[in-house]
Amino acid sequence: MQQIIDRFISYVTIDTESDSSSETTPSTVKQWDLAHKLVEELKTIGLQDVTIDDKAYIMATLPSNVEQEVPTIGFISHFDTTPDFTGANVKPQIIPNYDGKDIVLNADQNIILSPTYFKDLLQYKGQTLITTDGTTLLGADDKAGITEIVTAMEFLINNPDIKHGKIRVGFTPDEEIGRGAHHFDVEKFGCDWAYTMDGSQIGELEYENFNAAGAKITFKGKSVHPGYAKGKMINSMLIVNDFINELPKGETPQETKGYQGFFHVHHLTGSIEETVLELIIRDHNKKKFEKRKELIAKISQKFNKKFAKQFGEDIVIAEVKDQYYNMKEKVVPVKHIVDIAEKAMKELGIKPVIKPIRGGTDGCQLSYKGLPCPNIFAGGHNFHGKYEYVPVESMQKAVEVIVRIAELTAKGDFIKKEVKSKIK
Ligand SMILES: [Zn+2]
Repeated sequence: MQQIIDRFISYVTIDTESDSSSETTPSTVKQWDLAHKLVEELKTIGLQDVTIDDKAYIMATLPSNVEQEVPTIGFISHFDTTPDFTGANVKPQIIPNYDGKDIVLNADQNIILSPTYFKDLLQYKGQTLITTDGTTLLGADDKAGITEIVTAMEFLINNPDIKHGKIRVGFTPDEEIGRGAHHFDVEKFGCDWAYTMDGSQIGELEYENFNAAGAKITFKGKSVHPGYAKGKMINSMLIVNDFINELPKGETPQETKGYQGFFHVHHLTGSIEETVLELIIRDHNKKKFEKRKELIAKISQKFNKKFAKQFGEDIVIAEVKDQYYNMKEKVVPVKHIVDIAEKAMKELGIKPVIKPIRGGTDGCQLSYKGLPCPNIFAGGHNFHGKYEYVPVESMQKAVEVIVRIAELTAKGDFIKKEVKSKIK
């Protein structure tokens, strides 16, 4: 346990916040600080072929210790943290034997992590929690994942009696700004399949995620002196208001869950002459996803028609771009990779929580690049903010899941069954 705590703290105290406005990879120079440290650590624990490329993508190998042919599997996590909340000067607090009561994160600023608001806390009574000091995020997303992978590899190296095939480790920058998989060299990684260790609470196992698109919609207007504006002024901000009202009611992030998709208006800047509305579109179902994009086009057309005479040209210009797709399509044909993870958890007494991700992961992009890649819990809660915390016991369990997946893959039961069913 102490080893996990020490390792985790050595990572989260290095600031690796990414920056979506940057065009370089990694998006921030400071991500190199942790990247270089990880390379050294992977070499020290005894992994082979430890490489880091010019974009800070790290890969390493644990060679097979069995005679027979075994699929090569990979474990992946990201070392950047979200730009949504500061990740500088993280001062982790360790709460041993959590008593189920309020945790004072910061007495000066009266910041409390309370189980009355965050009910999940109660399932960790008696466990050791790592929290923030209330002024930063923690970075369990996804330095918990890195901690678990490094610890599992070290465990396998120190326990050669545990049989496994070739295992690859991959650490990426810039996942939080959606670019973690962009420069990931799937061919070089050379795995039959992989898992991202980037989920939240213990037991999470995910292979379905949103189809995602982003829309930037520009509304034009005409400014005229308000005293003499009748029939002349076109106020683009008011058109946006009408536009938003045309979107289906109740289909926002705060009103949906499970497989329900949504439109999410996340940014708006405006003046009379021009207003820009940015929204994202999310749906697990491919058909419904396409329908949502069509709706944006339809509403835009409606406004263009309405103002055609008065404005003379298109008053609404909608640019819609696909961002990522549901990995389910790529994972279901090789479903045994999910089954192995599920079996590993059950054998360790962990209840698998299989549910659709309401977001995307590096794994969904990798799945479309030819590396099927479900997501497994890393143990943290309340990502991207000051209430983020992680139970050390959950990280310990994640280490065990990695080890067990390696063992089960070497046994090959699932592969045979899969091949058998294909032969039938
Ligand atoms: Zn993450």
